[in-house]
Amino acid sequence: MRDRTRGGSGFVGRELTRLLGKHGHEVTLISRKPGPGRITWAQLQSDGLPPCDGAVNLSGESILNPMRWWNESYRKDVFSSRIDTTRTLAHAIAASPNPPRSWVLITGVACYKPSLTAEYIEDSEWTPFDLLSRLVKEWEAAALLPENVAQTTKQVVIRPGVVLGRDGGAMKQMLLPFWLGLGGTLGPGTQPFPWIHVRDLAGVIAHSLGPGSSPDGPDVRPGAQVLNGVAPAQNTNYEFTKELGRALGRPTVFPVPAFVLNAMLGSERALVLTHGQRVTPKRTLETGYQYQYPDLGSALKEILFSRR
Ligand code: NDP
Repeated sequence: MRDRTRGGSGFVGRELTRLLGKHGHEVTLISRKPGPGRITWAQLQSDGLPPCDGAVNLSGESILNPMRWWNESYRKDVFSSRIDTTRTLAHAIAASPNPPRSWVLITGVACYKPSLTAEYIEDSEWTPFDLLSRLVKEWEAAALLPENVAQTTKQVVIRPGVVLGRDGGAMKQMLLPFWLGLGGTLGPGTQPFPWIHVRDLAGVIAHSLGPGSSPDGPDVRPGAQVLNGVAPAQNTNYEFTKELGRALGRPTVFPVPAFVLNAMLGSERALVLTHGQRVTPKRTLETGYQYQYPDLGSALKEILFSRR
């Protein structure tokens, strides 16, 4: 099987490439930078999509880059790095004489309105209510294939929570302060903390690329099948903080108040840390995906202590 992975050089993409490689698949990355085993944006646009069985888009300028001030130019990069790449890949799929069997887009749970009580499944109704939910709306819309192509190419959208793993994402930024005993809850701490281990996110993507992942059989409906990319365990930020502190044997007595995060990051993106959604992977489980790390204890144990 051959897969084209956009954003494959990043944190999740590296894990997915490892997993697909382990199963004997050949992966070509689509990247801004040329190199062996890669094609660039420009090549994709000029030469079209090389023959492949599956396509995945994982690209996107990091939203929580502490080195960048949250301003109009940053917002523009966050939007265009996701929406333009998704549109380009969807157009390339639609224009291909042999479109791939599966097309998987990774977005996020920011579409669901943060709440302490609401529970969201894949079919939950939502309308954009802020900048990041508008981003998800436009991002997912950009992925839709014309009806004739959607007859043969399965479209899947995976909405992950915070992706936990040793080599990137939030953990990479959190580990040092926690090791130093400076970790603490973010904002109130009572907010839900939807999360997934990076190996499980790669697993859900690989599962979606395969033929048998739809609970309804081959997906020939218009639109994409949505899967929530979160672990089945439901945790709050407080529970995550305490569990991480316990696993490291470090105190977690330094909460970071919401106003500090708002001042440091800008309130639009600090919201990702200070608020959260209770998200259930209902359809993901119904497709038969079996989580390797369904609870925080097992996920943190692997991230902190396993030898690879
Ligand atoms: P990374 O930041 O590790 O990597 C994303 C990739 O996107 C990079 O390798 C890069 O590829 C490409 N990229 C970065 N900036 C730009 C840009 N300005 N224009 C075009 N391409 C760009 O992301 P993750 O692996 O952590 O996340 C993958 C996807 O999952 C992202 O879309 C992210 O929004 C989403 N997601 C991630 C979560 C997380 O906790 N990590 C949570 C929820 C969703 P290259 O340099 O090769 O071009």
